[in-house]
Amino acid sequence: MTRPRLHLVHGPTPLVKPERLAASLGLDLWVKRDDMTGGAEAGNKLRKLEFLLAEAKAQGADVVITCGGIQSNHARATALAAAALGVRALLFLRTTGAVDAPLPLGGNVLLDRMVGAEVRLITPAMYRERARVMADAARELEAKGARPYVIPEGGSNGLGALGYVEAMAEVRAQLDVGAALGAPFDAIVHACGSGGTAAGVVLGAGLHRVAKRVYAMAVCDDAPTFEAVIARVVAEAQALEPSLDRAADLVVDDGAKGPAYAVSTPEQRRVMIDATRASGLV
Ligand SMILES: *Cc1c(COP(=O)(O)O)cnc(C)c1O
Repeated sequence: MTRPRLHLVHGPTPLVKPERLAASLGLDLWVKRDDMTGGAEAGNKLRKLEFLLAEAKAQGADVVITCGGIQSNHARATALAAAALGVRALLFLRTTGAVDAPLPLGGNVLLDRMVGAEVRLITPAMYRERARVMADAARELEAKGARPYVIPEGGSNGLGALGYVEAMAEVRAQLDVGAALGAPFDAIVHACGSGGTAAGVVLGAGLHRVAKRVYAMAVCDDAPTFEAVIARVVAEAQALEPSLDRAADLVVDDGAKGPAYAVSTPEQRRVMIDATRASGLV
């Protein structure tokens, strides 16, 4: 791939076997540590931003506009990476509280504020119209002489998904030097919130023979919704890179999500704690 790309990810991220957790589950379990793509900006979103922010820079953008939940990882990664590039960030963050309430002094939104991102709180109803809200903001900024670049929720479009095609190339290189004895995995399992990771993983896992099947565990919407979202992002990525012509099998599983986004049951918290205690992974 020769399209513009920034180097934001501190890669390759480790591919590790959590021995005690794997033994307790009776699985040959490996973990790709994409929580370690960077510092405070780390996480899966940084891989997508390598392509998205490169395009923004190439277009001469001086402000990036994006959206997410109030404590969005994607918004935080975008705000921090944009600050490093000297690009302003405008974040539309969804709240169930009042849109004129004081902003929280903790978590991701504190980091957003520290780097000087402009935060505008919006209601869940407005958030459903997020594409229009961001397009309107872009037009307003353009009228004032700025050069805005809009990044969709989660950085999940075809261009952003290419970051996870690259991640699968990274795993292939790790397999080739002996991780998991070099053989492809039976399955990759990952959390799915806006679909871009799933799209990149199925395309990259197929292209680089990293796994036959991908389980995208829905964290918010149901399986049919995500199947449609992921299919759209896959098609966008294939339009950008026609060589991405063999996708791994995709299973969207919505059977493990909590009662609502960012809300978990006692049983789910028990599983998380047990996994953390058996692995040291948080
Ligand atoms: C965003 C996010 C995901 C989901 O990735 P999508 O590409 O949005 O589906 C999973 N895990 C974490 C920690 C995330 O921040």
